[in-house]
Amino acid sequence: MIARLGGDEFVIVLPNIKHPREAVHIAEGIIEALSKSFLLNGQEVFVTTSIGISLYPLDGNDIESLLRNADKAMYEAKYSGRNQFELYHTEMHRNESKKMIMENNLRRALERNEIYLVYHPVMDANTNEIVSVEALVRWKQKQLGVIPPSEFIPLAEESGLIIPISEWIIQKACEDLKMIHLHGKPKLRMSINISAIHFNQENFVKSIDDIIQKTNVNPNYIDFELTESMIMPKANESVDKLVKLKQLGIKLSIDDFGTGYSSLSYLNRFPLDILKIDKSFIGGLLDYKEDCSIVEAIITMAHRLHLKVIAEGVENKKQYEFLKKENCDYIQGFYFSKPIPFHKLMTFFESWDQEFIK
Ligand code: C2E
Ligand code: CA
Ligand code: CA
Repeated sequence: MIARLGGDEFVIVLPNIKHPREAVHIAEGIIEALSKSFLLNGQEVFVTTSIGISLYPLDGNDIESLLRNADKAMYEAKYSGRNQFELYHTEMHRNESKKMIMENNLRRALERNEIYLVYHPVMDANTNEIVSVEALVRWKQKQLGVIPPSEFIPLAEESGLIIPISEWIIQKACEDLKMIHLHGKPKLRMSINISAIHFNQENFVKSIDDIIQKTNVNPNYIDFELTESMIMPKANESVDKLVKLKQLGIKLSIDDFGTGYSSLSYLNRFPLDILKIDKSFIGGLLDYKEDCSIVEAIITMAHRLHLKVIAEGVENKKQYEFLKKENCDYIQGFYFSKPIPFHKLMTFFESWDQEFIK
């Protein structure tokens, strides 16, 4: 049976197949047949075909799940370059099991010491001094190598593992900051990225207070990086928590500024200290006038609101000079340093101070 569902989507039902191979064979035939050009009002036209296959009863027991899974497989086929077919169970099962394997590994990552931090320096645009470092988490897995946080943080958040991981990150960053303070850089600040899931825990502030007590670090040198989308949904509760964090001595910055809710009313409402301009605007500084205008506007607005501004993702001299001209307070980016492992930080500070500070 062939049916047109709507638009350019068709469904084919093969009720009597004995083996998935038969469905594959038919899919190949259809793709082959449709890959030839057509004459439409005397004009030659081409179409591409993407096919998703789901099998009863393996991929679903009812019409809805069979259609839904075929649809997923079809998008997978489209995504991998069109003129292809995809079987639901192979590709999607693989993704699911890859995720499960990763989650299982992540569960043990902390006890296996596979999680560690690197530190990305932030420079004062006026004095060229390194004034702070941002802790960035890494996971080095035996088989998979170094997995970036963009991959495993969402997984950790889905599985709840983010809470122990987050607490570990904050504690480690505080311990390292304490060491830095004791070893010649008593004024250095530490920025820590906070996960939304952790922040939304009822006992978040207490867990932070505990870590500060335990590590005996001076909280006046700690900055928390939050995002708009993390504090906006439950604004009232967020204000309470943020006020309490401020009372502990912690400074608050908004990360990825300009990409989130874009509701400016919260800038007054929340007790914030720093705006961190998202790196997508910095990346466009040389090519797009609009990005220059946005960056200028953010800096002016922030200063009027008595907030400091960090530009992140600064990769070259021209961006750096533009930001300096616009009175941006702090600069961070590959232009002057990549994130650095803890054991190399002190040497980095020393050589930096000798070379760049007059
Ligand atoms: P983010 O907080 O916006 O961090 C900035 C990211 O941009 C980092 O990637 C950093 O290495 C990269 N970056 C910095 N300067 C440049 C530059 O000049 N050019 C380019 N191309 N990239 C630059 P990373 O370390 O992969 O982190 C990605 C994201 O993962 C972070 O975005 C943050 O949202 C999250 N993340 C990282 N560490 C932690 C953590 O300890 N806890 C939590 N909750 N999230 C974290
Ligand atoms: Ca950040
Ligand atoms: Ca950011």
